[in-house]
Amino acid sequence: MRKIEIKTGPKLEDYQAYSSLRGTVDSFLETVPQYVEKLKGKTIWMINSTATGGGVAEMVPSQMRIMRAMGVSIEWMVIETDDVEFFNITKRIHNAIHGSGDGKFSESDRDPYERVNRHNLQQALDVIQDGDVVVIHDPQPMPLAGMLKKHRDVRCVWRCHIGLDESNEVTRAVWSFLQPYFGDYDHFVFSLQEYVLPEISGRTALIPPAIDPLSHKNRMLQMHKCLSILVQAGLIESREPRLYNAYKHQVRRVMPDGSFGQVNHPDDFQLIYRPIITEISRWDRLKGFKQLMEAFVYMKETNARRTDKDALDYKRIHMSRLVLGGPDPLFVTDDPEGAEVLKELIEYYQSLDGEIQKDIALMLLPLDNPKENALIVNALQRYSVIVVQNSIQEGFGLTATEAMWKRTPVLVSGAAGLKFQVNHGETGSINPDPTDIPRLAAAMEYMLSHQKELDKWGFNAQTRVVERFTLFSQIESWLRLLSAV
Ligand code: UDP
Repeated sequence: MRKIEIKTGPKLEDYQAYSSLRGTVDSFLETVPQYVEKLKGKTIWMINSTATGGGVAEMVPSQMRIMRAMGVSIEWMVIETDDVEFFNITKRIHNAIHGSGDGKFSESDRDPYERVNRHNLQQALDVIQDGDVVVIHDPQPMPLAGMLKKHRDVRCVWRCHIGLDESNEVTRAVWSFLQPYFGDYDHFVFSLQEYVLPEISGRTALIPPAIDPLSHKNRMLQMHKCLSILVQAGLIESREPRLYNAYKHQVRRVMPDGSFGQVNHPDDFQLIYRPIITEISRWDRLKGFKQLMEAFVYMKETNARRTDKDALDYKRIHMSRLVLGGPDPLFVTDDPEGAEVLKELIEYYQSLDGEIQKDIALMLLPLDNPKENALIVNALQRYSVIVVQNSIQEGFGLTATEAMWKRTPVLVSGAAGLKFQVNHGETGSINPDPTDIPRLAAAMEYMLSHQKELDKWGFNAQTRVVERFTLFSQIESWLRLLSAV
């Protein structure tokens, strides 16, 4: 177990300076002190499986900063292991909660699952005191609560970031595998009502994930700054060599021969003046990257057969490019499937003809440098004409909220979390079935050729995020819950 230190960042008054955020911050400041008072003398421990990549690592630092500014004692710890068997079983649990996989779990799976948690226990006991509150995120550290409670008088909350809005054989199997750990938890937190299990519904709160509008991932970037980040990342060509020299952490990119290259002067892939369609996620089959690439190819091929080559929408589609971004597998420790999924995508990319290859970029983002990663994601989301989240399943897609905050039009699948975040035709577009390639292609085509509508969706989307999905309402819900467990 490793304690993660967080960097300094925006202060409460920085948020209050924004009139659209002021109302939420003011009501936060009015309500929250009563909860903070009840938490006096206790430390809140956030525990998860990774300090970089994914929604949990994205949200925890901002939550901690704001809570600390309010006087709450809060710390973050990450379980450590290089046990492949552990991550295999936890990834199968993760997929099964989304209804995917064979749903076969046996008692022998508990061995690596509990073994790694047991190895991490001592470090937790070294710092966690009686009376503290422990929030365990997602399935990886789930068995820890019972182990901790044998030695410490603590309250434990399980925060599940994933879920499926229906139950099937696979979800029933995984929940029955996890059932023995439920009794060790005082409370549960899910993102949506649909994910709540009936047997624990009396002990459950709903807290949807939220973004920090002033973090490096979401703060405003002036256009020149945005372009310079993309140049430095090797995504846009520049005639100014000093811009390249300023670049610290080169983004690696998949080259046409399937190797990972570092592009200094990417004359084969200039995004500038191009409408780019982007999806940024972990390399996970459930993120629907492959289907998105197929739909993009389908759209391009259909467009190439058109005879009205002077039409504006023909040109927009012809010019468009697809950027798929995800963590460089060099820096991912908790997801054994990531490298495999990336390999499948590279194989598909290599099977495409050279012209189409030039229109697609597979980018490996520098997760080892969180600030750099955040700024590149920020710039890409701002620069994109459409941000897609084509998830087969999604508990809640933070990426969609991030793009909505930036007023970038989103195209999402009908996965439960995304349906909750986006209103079709109002704050974005929903393509119900992420595996229906022609419909997904048609949805992209529609968006590329209806700019006015997109502007409206982007504007509405930002308002929706301000009203519902900024970190203040989220932290208020957390503090209310933590002070009561
Ligand atoms: N992300 C990132 N770099 C990457 C891939 C993802 O910073 O290469 C971030 C993304 O911007 C978002 C989070 O990781 O903040 C993913 O959260 P989401 O809820 O979309 O999906 P999860 O990974 O939790 O399933």
